[in-house]
Amino acid sequence: MNFGMFARFRKLACRSDRIVRCSSGHLYTTMWIWGGSIKAVRLGSRRYQRCPVGHHWAMARLVDPDSLTPEERKAAGATHDVRIP
Ligand SMILES: [Zn+2]
Repeated sequence: MNFGMFARFRKLACRSDRIVRCSSGHLYTTMWIWGGSIKAVRLGSRRYQRCPVGHHWAMARLVDPDSLTPEERKAAGATHDVRIP
C-alpha cells in the first residue's frame, strides 16, 4: 500500500473508538475501522490484536457500552491502544 492509497483509505474509512473485551476479559478502547483494518486481522465484530491491558495477543470482541456498568466503561476508556500516527 503506497501513501496515496493509505491517505484515501483513511479518508474513506469510518473510524470510531469502540470498547472491546479481549478473550481474557480485559476491557479497553480501541480504534475500530469499519470495512477494514491495517493493524489487525479483521473478523467481523471480532479481531485478533494486542491487548494493552494484559500485554498479550488475544481475540478482541466489540462490546455494547450499554451492557457495561459505569465503572467498567470508565476503566475501558482509561486504556486505549496505540493510535496509528
Ligand atoms: Zn487482555
